[in-house]
Amino acid sequence: MKKLFLFWFLLIISISLFAQTLPRIKILATGGTIAGQGASADRSAYTSGALPIKDLIAAVPGIDKLAIISGEQISNVGSQDMSVAIWIKLNQRINEIYKNNEADGVVITHGTDTQEETAYFLSLTVRYDKPVVLTGSMRPATAISADGPKNLYDAVALAASKEAANSGVLLVFSESIFSGREAVKTSTTHVEAFTAPNSGPIGQIYDGKVVMYQSPIRKANKNTPFDITGLTSLPEVAIVELYADAPPTAINAYVAAGVKGIVTGGLGNGNLNKANTAAVAAAVKRGVPVVRASRIYSGRVTLLDETDDEKLGTIVSDDLIPQKARILLMLGLTQTRDKKQLQEYFFMY
Ligand code: GLU
Repeated sequence: MKKLFLFWFLLIISISLFAQTLPRIKILATGGTIAGQGASADRSAYTSGALPIKDLIAAVPGIDKLAIISGEQISNVGSQDMSVAIWIKLNQRINEIYKNNEADGVVITHGTDTQEETAYFLSLTVRYDKPVVLTGSMRPATAISADGPKNLYDAVALAASKEAANSGVLLVFSESIFSGREAVKTSTTHVEAFTAPNSGPIGQIYDGKVVMYQSPIRKANKNTPFDITGLTSLPEVAIVELYADAPPTAINAYVAAGVKGIVTGGLGNGNLNKANTAAVAAAVKRGVPVVRASRIYSGRVTLLDETDDEKLGTIVSDDLIPQKARILLMLGLTQTRDKKQLQEYFFMY
């Protein structure tokens, strides 16, 4: 009898010790295809964000062996409807989770359309060096070969790994690990939807094992100057894409509408045609900061090349694509309107 008691006692102790060694991962669900439901397995059309978080977790075999998982629904939208309000809510919740030591890692499930934007926004606003990993899927949960469960498994394994700490915000997709700053959706429908045109993936994950090859330098984390605590909105910044013979209509209209900043998706090295150069000069004169980015997804936009930024009063995005440059300009404008300081941000983050 005594021996039996000892056996059960030791068994319970070792199970609880084992359980305690597993990291605690919080999944914050925002919607997207990963939570999408289609009419049948052989149809790709679906409603984004139809499945609740508990159904997502239940569809991933073995996920409970990686971590002690808990989930929260932050929003349930297709990421074409991602908003500044949801970004602020996400940022607040992640900072709170780490402040209160509620988890060792955070995973965010997200539609792929704007996942690259959310990843960069969080990489500028989360004030902790702890793991934050975004993922999603290209096929709805009901499709043949749905990719969501595998991506979610990998995201949890990555967030639970020691490699994910101090790496900034990460995005994992189809077994590749990207820096949140660098990741870009480069395929509209393929399962390998993300690449990082300037840096490539920084790591790989296979069978839940993480291997890193690079460490991101441009990350803000605890040194971030962008403390948005208490804010409920961000200064409005618009993006205008250039093309051959583009008229200045969009820039003029945005300025008239009172935007606080403009990012141009310019030609080549961020170039503007004559009509838009005049419109930008007028915008800058009216106190609207303009950042020159490029419609090209790799390479950088350099100061004082074909465009005379000193004369025009423009800022360059460095290697940020327009939708990421917009995020940095919105956050930068919460701190300063000084052009020199804004330009510094683009060379730092
Ligand atoms: N529009 C959907 C979204 O971004 C499709 C992209 C996806 O999740 O794959 O939520």
